[in-house]
Amino acid sequence: MNIGSHGGSCGHSCCLRIEDLGVKIGNETILEKINLHAHCGELVALIGPNGAGKSTLIKSILGQQDYTGVISFSVPGQRNRKMKIGYVPQSPVFDPGDPVSVADLFCCCMSKRPVFLGASKKMRQTILECLSRVHGEDLINKRIGTLSGGELQRVLLALALEPIPNILILDEPLSGVDVEGMESLMEMLDEIRRDYDLSILMTTHDFGMLDRYADQVVLIDRGIICQGSPKDVLESKAFHAVFHRKGGGV
Ligand code: ADP
Ligand code: MG
Repeated sequence: MNIGSHGGSCGHSCCLRIEDLGVKIGNETILEKINLHAHCGELVALIGPNGAGKSTLIKSILGQQDYTGVISFSVPGQRNRKMKIGYVPQSPVFDPGDPVSVADLFCCCMSKRPVFLGASKKMRQTILECLSRVHGEDLINKRIGTLSGGELQRVLLALALEPIPNILILDEPLSGVDVEGMESLMEMLDEIRRDYDLSILMTTHDFGMLDRYADQVVLIDRGIICQGSPKDVLESKAFHAVFHRKGGGV
């Protein structure tokens, strides 16, 4: 993985910079010439049709996919700091009959103590603090498999925020979430990026949210088709060509 700090010729406080990124799987070019800057406190929405390469780009940033080009990271005045990434994966499925509770899931991720022993008093307090970041303290004893789409996303978000990352990446966090849940999740992300000054990179097919919450929209279809403000991208010919062409479903 080619992640390191960079010199900072970017005029803003640039957190994440992707330069000339390309991904080939076998003989197929999945991504090419991807250039993207995500600044601190900025929400970048990655949009594109199914199979465009959105998840592949995320996997490259996470170091789970080989790529060419450079992915680098910097915080002004703090050279060589390691990038902490918080990641919320795309709709993981849990069995409704699964006895695993929200507290158990946190224990699996954050404690070496066997889960069947239950969370210690101190651990329970830490879990409650994590859940409070997403206003989800009441979810601590619920079974993971019984959570609504919106509740599950909040729990996964709380996990991704411990420790507080420099960049938060979410792969289609709004899919499987009802309209009310979408609204409250986006409000929460908005609050989080302001409170912690972190960059958020998320993929979505819910274009109605972009104007209100995204600073930058990047439309990809194997390469970058269009990028800019939500208005610029949503009103572009390129956007209409990609999403209104026959078979160009989201
Ligand atoms: P999106 O998230 O935009 O829907 P993906 O990044 O999941 O798109 O996939 C982009 C393309 O890369 C698709 O055509 C998919 O089939 C292909 N792809 C992704 N991962 C692999 C893989 N491990 N092996 C082969 N092809 C893959
Ligand atoms: Mg995907």
